[in-house]
Amino acid sequence: MFERIYPSKVILPMKMHYGVPAVPAVKVGDYVRMGQCVGVPEKGSFSVPVHSGISGKVTDISEIRLPNGILTPAVTIKNDMKRTRLDSVRPRSGFKLSATEAIGVIRDAGICGMGGEGIPTAAKLRRARTEVVRDFLVNCLQSEPYSTSDLVAITEYPDYVVLGASACARAVGASRCIFLISENRREQRKALANSIAKIKDDFKDLEFDIKLFRERFPQGYYRLVARALYGKNLAVGETIEKACSAVVFNCSTMLACWEALSDNIPMMSRIVSVTGDASGGHNMLVPIGTPVSELLTNAQDIKNGSDRIVWGNCLTGIDIKDPDNTPVVKTTSVISVVRRQEVPRTPCIHCGLCSECCPMNLSPNTIFEMLNQGLRQKAAEEGARDCIACGSCSYVCPAGINLTTAIASFAGEGRIIEINSLLDNSGAEERPLDDLKPAYVGEASLLEDYSDGEEDKSKSSPDSITLPFEKDKEV
Ligand code: SF4
Ligand code: SF4
Repeated sequence: MFERIYPSKVILPMKMHYGVPAVPAVKVGDYVRMGQCVGVPEKGSFSVPVHSGISGKVTDISEIRLPNGILTPAVTIKNDMKRTRLDSVRPRSGFKLSATEAIGVIRDAGICGMGGEGIPTAAKLRRARTEVVRDFLVNCLQSEPYSTSDLVAITEYPDYVVLGASACARAVGASRCIFLISENRREQRKALANSIAKIKDDFKDLEFDIKLFRERFPQGYYRLVARALYGKNLAVGETIEKACSAVVFNCSTMLACWEALSDNIPMMSRIVSVTGDASGGHNMLVPIGTPVSELLTNAQDIKNGSDRIVWGNCLTGIDIKDPDNTPVVKTTSVISVVRRQEVPRTPCIHCGLCSECCPMNLSPNTIFEMLNQGLRQKAAEEGARDCIACGSCSYVCPAGINLTTAIASFAGEGRIIEINSLLDNSGAEERPLDDLKPAYVGEASLLEDYSDGEEDKSKSSPDSITLPFEKDKEV
């Protein structure tokens, strides 16, 4: 279950994804409707467009700094609460798309990974297609403490998650579609299994499976998945596509893909958990760009003004200083509300806890020391580039040492090399940007309460959509 939030405004950063910021496509005073594209990528850039999830007037376009330090232009829209949507975009009925067209729809809908760094989904799909992957993996694990937004997405919209994954699997030419989920998540497992049973006849060339994982943190990161499923330790810069013939996508991203493919809904809202040891646990469906303060106002149990408000999960997230001007972005799956527990900083006592908890079998204290002494080569030899920035070592350290920041930023340099391999396949040149549809919006389930309700809802039903995609059509 989730609550729906209708914010008084949205602040839409032009950079919520991995890549180059989009460029504002509106000006102050413009009237914007739900689903309207308000930011477009510059021609040829590795980027995604940005859409509005509310209707109202543009009141400001200026640079803002996000908690992660990114300085980006942002478009602020004041909500007129009318939820007027663009009627030029309609749910598809009886559609048939080629793989290239399907990926193009996903690109134009502004979809990026919702569970991590916000890698443009279309670029990742294109790379998977180029690599001819066998396995299309859907990460339904959501192992971060307290976060349940992905699980709610599965519980509420299992058909959309499964259809999105199946369609994308077919678009990249995979032969297996595998859902990865914790063994404890019985309700979600059942929901996925039911949905798979409903649609599998439409995807006869796809083999479906659900793989169960132990409940622990971290779990879904692609390098851990490569090790758990294929017994492969990926080298720095090595992709799971090449090494394991597999690609991993987050389940909420798959839901967003199906909304775009079936109902022409762009990425303009998402489910966010507002939770932590200082909050009972909420899930809210919000337009992207909703200020964090408006989420907190709706979480009635948050009373203690001295709690930490964290953009992201409590292990790796960043403290929010100004909730009024900090928006939910496309990758915000959780706002954590946690009690302040400052651990006094002391020298390392060599307790070994950081090594014990590291999922990549590193010795964080040793690496930290090496990096402090400028011994970068030695740190690399010690495996520092394998760090997946899970935050566990800092969390357990009784000496209050922030191991993660130093190690993860060193490892991040290697990660950039790996992500940059997407650039070769970004396909920005495939279709001129003039062809970008002005917006995507429809009447699918996630947004039914945000719309003005004039559409025939039966058109949005997955049952009414003709499948499949023509997976073999040449680009
Ligand atoms: S957990 Fe902290 S105190 Fe213990 S070995 Fe690691 S760095 Fe040292
Ligand atoms: S953040 Fe710490 S525990 Fe997590 S992978 Fe990196 S070194 Fe290991």
